[in-house]
Amino acid sequence: MQTAAIQITRNGKPALPNSPISFNEKLKLSGLELSAETIDTLQVNVGKLCNQACKHCHVDASPKRTEIMSHETVEACLNILRKYKIPTLDITGGAPVNDSRFSLFCY
Ligand code: SF4
Repeated sequence: MQTAAIQITRNGKPALPNSPISFNEKLKLSGLELSAETIDTLQVNVGKLCNQACKHCHVDASPKRTEIMSHETVEACLNILRKYKIPTLDITGGAPVNDSRFSLFCY
């Protein structure tokens, strides 16, 4: 199990002391519950390949970057879109149009 040091606050004060327990365990101990009722947006970042290399780019995309979404992840995203009625698909990169699989998301 992966753990993370997080701080849950209530009225600006720590709700629990820091400890190396999971986020879900912290929620449970705090009596808090998070559950999604709907999905409004699916955000898909297809990779870091871009034909530009802007200094302000928040993902450091450029023509030299080679990281792209795996075929398995593309298929998983498409399956989610087929299964759920998600009103907004937000596709980002890099430049999504540089990925030939971009058209798979256009339906
Ligand atoms: S993804 Fe956007 S901001 Fe980043 S390098 Fe490409 S064009 Fe620039």
